[in-house]
Amino acid sequence: MLPSLTSKCLWFVAVAAVAAMASPAAQAQFGVAWRYSPGIVVVGAEADPRFALVDEAVAFWNRTLADVGSGFRLGAVERRVAPVPEEDLQAQVNSILGGRGGPASIPQALRNPPGDLTIFLGESDFVSFAGPFDAAWKRVVGIRGKDLPPMNLPNVARNVVAHEIGHAIGLGHNGDPTQLMCGRPATCRPSVFRADVPRLFPLTEDEKRELLRMYPADWKPRAP
Ligand SMILES: [Zn+2]
Repeated sequence: MLPSLTSKCLWFVAVAAVAAMASPAAQAQFGVAWRYSPGIVVVGAEADPRFALVDEAVAFWNRTLADVGSGFRLGAVERRVAPVPEEDLQAQVNSILGGRGGPASIPQALRNPPGDLTIFLGESDFVSFAGPFDAAWKRVVGIRGKDLPPMNLPNVARNVVAHEIGHAIGLGHNGDPTQLMCGRPATCRPSVFRADVPRLFPLTEDEKRELLRMYPADWKPRAP
């Protein structure tokens, strides 16, 4: 079985791919903190139910940031009904999996995304991912097609969206399948999020501390 089918998402691989061209700080397990409150653009098909899941996830993260005492918040969410660059998302994932995630491999649609944080609600078969890629202060999330397993299991897409936004904020993975940010090198799969009642999985205490370290109480935006 390919690694792509056993991993929850491609965040670590994506970070490793950019580490060679990024600052040493970017090579830490956790990602780089935002210097400003990112405006979020969500791109998808009309009536895609995941638009609402993004709203829910952003509210979750902003509530969590408030709860831990951070001064940082994610910015406004803009919904954009537009074609999703499926082939570019697939190409990006394939180049990362093939160890070719360097700057030259980045598809055009991911080079200049419309938001500070752009979330593409895909319809096709690729591993959900989050990455900084080449834009120094922009980040991109790609979400696997909602009708494909395990995204079509109840409560899974909700948590995958929240998980990838967690990476976009700067969190890495843990190894506990009862936690939202479980992933590589643990064998967590998105299917563990299956639940009959809608709920978001929690964060670890370490992750809450890390959020406050990256984004302290007196966090203020700085010029990019
Ligand atoms: Zn992940």
